[in-house]
Amino acid sequence: MAEYDVDLFVIGAGSGGVRAARIAAQHGAKVAIAEEYRIGGTCVIRGCVPKKLLVYASRFAEEFEDAAGFGWTVPEPTFSWPALIAAKDREIARLSAIYEANLVKAGVAIHRQRATIAGENAVALADGATVTAGTILIATGGAPAKGVFPGAELAISSNEAFDLPALPASIVIVGGGYIAIEFAGVFAGLGSRVTLIHRGAKLLRGFDEDVRDEVAAGLAKRGVELVFEDEIVGIEAVESGRRVLTSAGRAIEAEQVMLAIGRGALVDNLGLDATHVMRDHSGAVMVDVTARTNVPSIYAVGDVTNRVNLTPVAIREGHAFADTVFGNAPTLVDYADIPTAVFATPEVGVVGLTEAEARDRGGEVDIYKARFRPMKATLSGRDEKVLMKIVVDAATDRVLGVHIVGEAAAEMIQLAAVAVKMGATKAQFDATVALHPTAAEELVTLR
Ligand code: NDP
Repeated sequence: MAEYDVDLFVIGAGSGGVRAARIAAQHGAKVAIAEEYRIGGTCVIRGCVPKKLLVYASRFAEEFEDAAGFGWTVPEPTFSWPALIAAKDREIARLSAIYEANLVKAGVAIHRQRATIAGENAVALADGATVTAGTILIATGGAPAKGVFPGAELAISSNEAFDLPALPASIVIVGGGYIAIEFAGVFAGLGSRVTLIHRGAKLLRGFDEDVRDEVAAGLAKRGVELVFEDEIVGIEAVESGRRVLTSAGRAIEAEQVMLAIGRGALVDNLGLDATHVMRDHSGAVMVDVTARTNVPSIYAVGDVTNRVNLTPVAIREGHAFADTVFGNAPTLVDYADIPTAVFATPEVGVVGLTEAEARDRGGEVDIYKARFRPMKATLSGRDEKVLMKIVVDAATDRVLGVHIVGEAAAEMIQLAAVAVKMGATKAQFDATVALHPTAAEELVTLR
């Protein structure tokens, strides 16, 4: 008789957990997974996927306008929020079903209920059952941070933004990170009056300064009202919706208020204290390079560990964990040169070091930069710019970072990331023949 009911029990069926469960099962492990909500996790259900669908929807407004410059006469377009949300819901239901089918195909037992850790090798299910496991993987992800000011409960988070019954005529968005900026673009594009309040002087902390400036300019051009260096101190319910009060004395009324002030590890009532799993100051589960916690039988991957909170990274972490623990193939995740995109409008795609990070390393840095009007804007007449910036180590000629703001920046940066990951030099970028006419050709013609 086996010592435990299962070899691996995964808590949380999101990007990291599903990948870990499937790969461990393929390696021959007996695997169970628990999910209290819907299979797919944040990315599929209320993150990257529905967000990108809403971003696509929001960009049609400009497409309709731009079409006139190319000879089209477009009748006054109308937009239906309920139709968009219903279409989005159909797509995430389809994707969730695929995730589930893949788990079933791999032989993973699915528990559609909450699971908590009941010991170093035991998981308690909401229905009262206990499952013993040789290894437990925490893959519970994260959740939006909540405000701590009077009336904070009147605000929504990105979770609710995906399912609002109607498009708000006006919305105040609080924060200056990925989610705030992406949703500012979505709501502005769909026709809401958007006010973005950020406590800092610039958006997107940690990004290259030129990128930060370009994004702010692009959002402002699209009608987003940017309020910097001010903080929300309260929300009141008023007849028209909400009134946001700020530390600088502003009182801004809007139909909805959305907080996008970061996300925290989802560890509430998970039973971690019973096992003395260590957590950092933010509450995230602490792990070593193999994703193992201080309790040898308990591992964690993805946002719950608050390392690099991106879906493809969680997937890699889950896969590496399964290969290492069940596949007899020790694998470490390489966190260098991870490309990332902010699906704002204008879009951001970056990989590698910012100019400031490169200079902080010491040594000479060469900067190649272009800010140009994309070809499409010549006929559309849109006041539009693309920013491209390449950060190069002067001593070795190696490209340390690529930063793009503009249409299709995310698509471009994925490929630029291959070159950066391979250690390409600026001379090798230059030796690549341009593909004309594209925006991407600037990457190989910058001198
Ligand atoms: P971010 O950490 O990106 O940004 C949080 C923002 O909120 C920052 O501007 C921060 O300001 C501000 N903030 C933090 N605390 C407060 C506070 N108490 N009051 C007012 N403002 C505050 O978080 P997001 O919620 O935007 O996204 C969470 C994570 O999810 C991202 O970091 C990313 O890893 C991931 N994500 C990735 C996406 C993508 O890849 N496209 C899309 C969406 C999310 P300050 O800069 O001053 O700290």
